[in-house]
Amino acid sequence: MRILIAGAGIGGLSTALCCLALGHQVTILEQSPRLSEIGAGIQLPPNAMRVFDKLGLAGKLQQYSAKPAALTARMGISGRRLFRIPLEQGNAPRWHAPYLHIHRADYIQVLFNAVTQHTDAKLELATCVSSYKNLANGVSVSCTNARKYDADVLVAADGIHSNIRKQMHGRSNPHFSGNIAWRAVAPVEMLGANVPENNACVWMGKGRHAVTYRLRCGELANFVGVVERNTRQTESWSTQGERSEALEDFRGWHSCVTSILENAPQLHRWGLFDRAPLTGWTNQRVALLGDAAH
Ligand SMILES: Cc1cc2nc3c(=O)[nH]c(=O)nc-3n(C[C@H](O)[C@H](O)[C@H](O)COP(=O)(O)OP(=O)(O)OC[C@H]3O[C@@H](n4cnc5c(N)ncnc54)[C@H](O)[C@@H]3O)c2cc1C
Repeated sequence: MRILIAGAGIGGLSTALCCLALGHQVTILEQSPRLSEIGAGIQLPPNAMRVFDKLGLAGKLQQYSAKPAALTARMGISGRRLFRIPLEQGNAPRWHAPYLHIHRADYIQVLFNAVTQHTDAKLELATCVSSYKNLANGVSVSCTNARKYDADVLVAADGIHSNIRKQMHGRSNPHFSGNIAWRAVAPVEMLGANVPENNACVWMGKGRHAVTYRLRCGELANFVGVVERNTRQTESWSTQGERSEALEDFRGWHSCVTSILENAPQLHRWGLFDRAPLTGWTNQRVALLGDAAH
């Protein structure tokens, strides 16, 4: 089959690799002129790693990842440990695959390299999909650069602001969830004695919580902190926040948390939004996938 995929994010590239492994021809249309470096840490759970193992990418992904020793929960201010579930000895063998943490940029790069090495794959950058048309025996896609593509099926992996979802379901009306998320990544060498342990750790507090873990073979410390807010925010991955505001949100918290906020080169502040569930994810030869299906 000829498969068109809109979007070269994690969903689009992973789908492309699965389709290629099944012997299909794949064309990916990506609006950006180059790979995005934006993002921070992402957890790669064992169910995802089992898929990447089948695709022959598990080793490559592990090269760029950190493998947490345990899942832990601690109190945000005192640092008191609430529980610790070891991963190396206990759970990983049960899952038959590792549980990893990876930087989004490294993740995309590994998938991108694997796709572009494949002879049955085409990747068209700077190509923004604007609409689709179901035909009797296929689907036709139009792009903002006036190019058109035909295929047997279209997978819409064009993210949270998906043009294809808008055509299928109309404009969505996201509403602010009442929470913002701070995101930060700091080099471990800058944190001195305040390096968080190599665990996936949830830090608990009143009206807020944080998660810390390591990235890039332990060289980076990743932080996400969710804080309740009643003021309206914008929905964006790239909005930066003021360091003073982040430190105020986590004032008095354990130094392993605050040292990341003090030392990260940039702090991102995202409003978290909810959308009503869609009534369906397909329209004849078109299917929504990943964030586009929200
Ligand atoms: C910039 C960014 C940073 C993120 N950082 C994190 C993170 O640090 N941690 C985390 O857990 N999650 C993060 N996420 C979310 C996470 O990556 C997604 O939830 C998940 O990977 C879903 O992937 P996706 O492929 O469905 O969508 P996305 O990852 O959003 O990918 C969609 C792709 O489609 C492209 N695209 C959009 N519109 C069009 C169009 N009309 N035509 C062609 N291409 C189009 C986009 O440029 C993008 O490459 C981030 C997402 C983004 C976009």
